[in-house]
Amino acid sequence: MNKKINNFEKQLKDNNLKLTGQRKIILNLFEENSDKHLNAVEIQKAALQQGNRIGTATVYRTLDLLEKLGFVSKINLDDSYIRYQFVDTKEEHEHHHLICERCGKVIDMQDDLLDSLEKQVHDKYGFNVTNHKVRIYGVCKECLSK
Ligand SMILES: [Zn+2]
Ligand SMILES: [Zn+2]
Repeated sequence: MNKKINNFEKQLKDNNLKLTGQRKIILNLFEENSDKHLNAVEIQKAALQQGNRIGTATVYRTLDLLEKLGFVSKINLDDSYIRYQFVDTKEEHEHHHLICERCGKVIDMQDDLLDSLEKQVHDKYGFNVTNHKVRIYGVCKECLSK
């Protein structure tokens, strides 16, 4: 069993909940697709592809639970879906998203690049930044070369 699952089980226990097979499947799916931004329907389909049928209500409840416990974060990409992405504990902030306006591709941006902005916000407004979510719109490399 991997560390993530052990940690998940422990946190569930602290909340008087059990690590059910379905909860485990959903967390594993997020970990396997850590570069993707999945909505509830996509998670349900991915589980089904592995031969696991999970009811819609269970999927939604599990997503809420995973988010509350900090294993996934809710991602708003300005489409009509609520999406979730696996939280990489190495990340200090939620990573930024580059969104292609032509093909709709979403690229995770791993560098932060906002340290100096945070410092300026602090100096100018006396405001201590704890997090930020950035979406950058434009045209991706592939679309540009077409
Ligand atoms: Zn594109
Ligand atoms: Zn992302």
